[in-house]
Amino acid sequence: MLIGTVTALLANYYWVTLDPGNWPCEKLLCKVRSRLRKTGQQVFVGDRVEVQEPDWEGGRGAIARILPRTSSLDRPAVANADQVLLVVSTQQPAFEPVVLSRFLNLVEYSGLKALVCINKVDLVDAKQEQEILARVNYWGYQGFAVSALEQRGFDALEAAFQGSITVLAGPSGVGKSSLLNRLCPGLTLRTGEVSDYMGKGKHTTRHVELFTLPKGGYVADTPGFSQLELSCDPQQVAHLFPEFRPYVADCRFRDCLHRDEPDCALRQANLERHEYYLDALKEAEQKWQIQSATADAESLEKVLSQASGNKAIPKLKSIHRAQSKRTERQKLAAHTGQIWVEEDADEED
Ligand code: GDP
Ligand code: ZN
Repeated sequence: MLIGTVTALLANYYWVTLDPGNWPCEKLLCKVRSRLRKTGQQVFVGDRVEVQEPDWEGGRGAIARILPRTSSLDRPAVANADQVLLVVSTQQPAFEPVVLSRFLNLVEYSGLKALVCINKVDLVDAKQEQEILARVNYWGYQGFAVSALEQRGFDALEAAFQGSITVLAGPSGVGKSSLLNRLCPGLTLRTGEVSDYMGKGKHTTRHVELFTLPKGGYVADTPGFSQLELSCDPQQVAHLFPEFRPYVADCRFRDCLHRDEPDCALRQANLERHEYYLDALKEAEQKWQIQSATADAESLEKVLSQASGNKAIPKLKSIHRAQSKRTERQKLAAHTGQIWVEEDADEED
């Protein structure tokens, strides 16, 4: 049986990198068999698939089956990702603990493991580098201090990539493309596009692609972030901070929100990110309210339209509709630790 990993998509074709074997070629350009297509299952980059009818001369094949996924992100669409490497820089743009913390929350929400790469260490002295690293460790994460420019600190990073599918994410301009170009010689990703910082008003339609690292592992480069909003149950927010875990069980109330409740063990611990937590909590509460209000309004509208036999009824205020769409996107964004990309029709034929 021919098994491989989907490493790129091009319109209706998929590049499948075959598992090592005695095959005439390493990669096949595949279509999805119509029987699989009819099931409605979408093939993602990162999917493990069974390929049939290989045409070795033409380098073609057909994807007949998707093997069970261990994880699946919607945006970017990546299957079987193991971890997210958040890339930030020491300077240009300057290290922003709040921004990193938000990215970390989003990754925690996605359920994937988060790692932090601090790039551009050539722009600071050893002491500043250590301070940032210590902070990241204190928050409960493994950090890698590197310089894409000087190709420094790569060994530990390359070891972390081995045997995994890693999604690369982080603000624009921190050096993600530079890093990938260095890690995969031969790759020529465009760098220096800081102009589209935070991607405001601009949707990126670039497809996700998995790059095979020479020392093992796959890396998915993803389009830039445009927003960092979290939409989750307020009760869940504290779970997005790993360093809180030893304390929260000791709060007097089981449903403690760690804000002003008496005998809150977390507040007493006085951790650095408690203040970030309070901001995240406030935001989650606001979103949660809007979301439930929208859900209520929409089910009311549905009931009304059914009761009226689908006769024209006044539409709900457009603000509700707009919010509903937005919260939906935010939810997706939060799930993926990544911000939405323009919908690419991913039909397979
Ligand atoms: P991306 O938007 O995250 O993909 O960032 P790019 O790779 O496009 O890099 C943005 C800018 O930072 C470019 O001008 C790079 O040359 C520069 N850059 C990237 N890595 C480093 C580094 O390690 N040190 C320094 N000093 N500059 C870097
Ligand atoms: Zn508490």
